[in-house]
Amino acid sequence: MKLLEVKDLKVHFNTLDGLVKAVDGVSFTLNEQETLAIVGESGCGKTVTVLTILGLIKKAIVSGSILYRGVELTKISQKEFEEIRGKKISMIFQEPMSSFDPLYTVGKQMMEVAMKHLKIDEERARQLCVDMLKKVQIPLAERRFDEYPHQMSGGMLQRIMIAIALLTNPDIVIADEPTTALDVTIQAQVLNLFKQLQKQYKTSVIFITHDLGVVAEVADRVHVMYAGKIVERSDVVKLFKQPLHPYTKGLLESRLKKEYKNKKLPFIEGVVPPPTNWPSGCRFHPRCPKAMEICRREEPVEVQLNGSSVACWLYHEGGAR
Ligand code: SF4
Repeated sequence: MKLLEVKDLKVHFNTLDGLVKAVDGVSFTLNEQETLAIVGESGCGKTVTVLTILGLIKKAIVSGSILYRGVELTKISQKEFEEIRGKKISMIFQEPMSSFDPLYTVGKQMMEVAMKHLKIDEERARQLCVDMLKKVQIPLAERRFDEYPHQMSGGMLQRIMIAIALLTNPDIVIADEPTTALDVTIQAQVLNLFKQLQKQYKTSVIFITHDLGVVAEVADRVHVMYAGKIVERSDVVKLFKQPLHPYTKGLLESRLKKEYKNKKLPFIEGVVPPPTNWPSGCRFHPRCPKAMEICRREEPVEVQLNGSSVACWLYHEGGAR
């Protein structure tokens, strides 16, 4: 069942350099209890998309629709958002250290969320938060509860962020590169814990990442974003077995693999273009090894193929895949 439906979302900013079209016509749905990964390089618009869903983007020109359980999130007030953000839809940020206030104990910061959203007294909030710390495997939870963020490791803080995100048993957790700042071994532990708790809490997740290894670990479906648009949608197995869009293929090929030892690593030529000046036609054409004449002139619309969907002229009639 659909929990969230985003339709033709555009998020533009007026800047001194011109109009930044950070998100430029993005549509997707999130179903109950599924994990949707949104993948792409930095600057592709994935973080702006989720911050807009949470009503955290200021001074932007927003159009399109974000429907959550029948409520149009682009139309509600900040006060109404307070009832949804952190309670029904919560977020785990990339940098655990900067997400906590260094002046307060982690316990106090957890309790604040619990008391605000669950309307419970201090004693019950403390018990709930200590129990959550145990669930995210913080050793000596009662003692750690009264410690400050600087007394914790990055991995511990990230697990506490997961605890806070799940405190209110939300419908949706948005995780923005939650393991990027962690060592690889800690990353795996945090991801496993996250997956286990997601199942237990029956939460839907939007997972933002640039790391396809992480996608393979967590996602049910994957949307690949490039230059403010979604260029491919697929289920996770198909995406790895049969990628369609040249950009997705480039991302997959540029992952570190054993056979690349002592060889030059494949990479996608060029850089993501500036959002004030997206290229004409297909926005990937200046970097695409398969670009054709039509790609420079006309923007490809998405076509369906074997249950996936791709925005590329190669898959339109007459395209030379
Ligand atoms: Fe490459 Fe053309 Fe497809 Fe864009 S539409 S990805 S330029 S082949």
